[in-house]
Formats: sequence, structure tokens, C-alpha cells
Amino acid sequence: MVIHTGDIIVKCGLCHKEIKKGEKIYQARTYFIFVCSECCILFTDEEVEIALMVFFGYGGFFGKLRSSNTSIKEVLKDILMELQSKNKKINPEDVDEFNLTLLHRALLYGITIKEYVQGLEILSK
Ligand SMILES: [Zn+2]
Repeated sequence: MVIHTGDIIVKCGLCHKEIKKGEKIYQARTYFIFVCSECCILFTDEEVEIALMVFFGYGGFFGKLRSSNTSIKEVLKDILMELQSKNKKINPEDVDEFNLTLLHRALLYGITIKEYVQGLEILSK
């Protein structure tokens, strides 16, 4: 953790909210990007690095498409319906790409990585 002391407007690399002067922040190791105190509560250091990597690869930010009751099940259903409408199937070699797409979409909806993992665990039972 470092303390933000400058007068420059700094935005969180995950949620894009302005980081207030004096707010405790985290500086990501991989991309040297600041993360706000709220995201530091929601994400472990490792999860911050993963989420930043996903946003670098796919764009957007945490909570960009946030709605009140979007669950991982609904996100998964939406992606599957999109694939179905394009007559695309998930081949075994596409599973990693599909998983990244699902994680990215979940993050856009404001679903944390912890909630994502818990949601998948519930769905797999
Ligand atoms: Zn944030």
C-alpha cells in the first residue's frame, strides 16, 4: 500500500473512480497502475493483477455494465445465447478463451472474482 499525496487526478485502474487525495491505494505490480481502496477491499492483490490483465486484453472496467441483480448464472446464460445466435459451439480448444470471456463479462457487471468463483462452484453442483 502507498498513500496518494499529489494534486493530480488519479483514477482507479479497475473501477475508474477518482482516487481521493490521501486515500490508501494499491499499486499493481504488473502494470504499475493504482487501484482504489474500495477495490483493495473487494480484490486480493493477486485478483487485482488478474483483473487488470483481463481489462488490458478485453477492455472496459470493473462495474461498467453494473446492474442490481446480475448473477454469474445470468452472465453465463447471456454468453451462451450469444454463441447460439451466431451458431457457434464451444470446442475443447476454445475453453480457455470462453473462460476468459466469462470472467471479463462478470467483471464488467461488477461481479468480483470471489463471487465469480463461488457462482461457478454453485453452478457445477
Ligand atoms: Zn477501484
